[in-house]
Amino acid sequence: MTGFFGKNLITLDETDSTNNYVKKIAMEGAPEGTLVIAKRQTAGRGRLGRKWVSQDESGIWMSFLLRPDIKPENASMITLICALALQKAIDEVCELETDIKWPNDIVFNGKKISGILTEMSADTLQINYVVAGVGINVEPKEYDEEINKIATSIKKETGKEVDRDLLIGRFGDIFAGYYREFQRNQNLLFMRDEYNRHLVNVNNKVKITDGDSAYVATAIGIDEQGELMVKDENGMLKKVRCGEVSVRGIYGYV
Ligand code: ADP
Repeated sequence: MTGFFGKNLITLDETDSTNNYVKKIAMEGAPEGTLVIAKRQTAGRGRLGRKWVSQDESGIWMSFLLRPDIKPENASMITLICALALQKAIDEVCELETDIKWPNDIVFNGKKISGILTEMSADTLQINYVVAGVGINVEPKEYDEEINKIATSIKKETGKEVDRDLLIGRFGDIFAGYYREFQRNQNLLFMRDEYNRHLVNVNNKVKITDGDSAYVATAIGIDEQGELMVKDENGMLKKVRCGEVSVRGIYGYV
């Protein structure tokens, strides 16, 4: 592996979660760009404590370490940068034009190909590190009933073999370019329009759940902070911050 991920690459047969692994080595001083790839995860995680199915070798399960010089409140934008970089890399390397479900999922025909989980260690003024975890379903697979309805894989959709190293390398290069730009500006203006072009939610009704409260609104697109702009049922413009909220389609996953 060369480029952004070339500095420190760790490959594992099995680990509980590559995010957990990177967190551990981050505390021991691992450098920015350290990439951990596992063949299998025994306890892969999604957002909000959800499970990410990744116990076998059907996908790319990886996490990488960042030490960005940005304010902690801006770190959540890294999730959106990952999503757009991955959308582009899958398009270029696998010739599959996917969509993005805000903030962080890569979908094709409404089914999920990839999930991204970013986690941060910070105090009020300064970030210690950010771990970005990316799970990409590569091979077709039978999941349990619930996940079967919402999951798909690159090979299932293209019918072609996936060059995993090429995909990871291209993702790293695209991500690195965006990440540099982001650190300069600390906003997403440079990629906002492109992100919105691929955003599957645009003009769709979404259900926004934040803790105990939920409401339905029509998605418009992201602003330069990566927040999802929506119009609620009274026509009021609202902004959804990416954090502990979940956004779903009102009729299904998208
Ligand atoms: P969301 O952001 O959509 O709320 P997460 O990013 O937290 O969801 O991902 C976890 C969810 O993804 C799980 O609850 C499950 O429904 C689904 N899921 C778990 N494993 C996979 C997988 N390998 N492929 C696609 N979807 C999965």
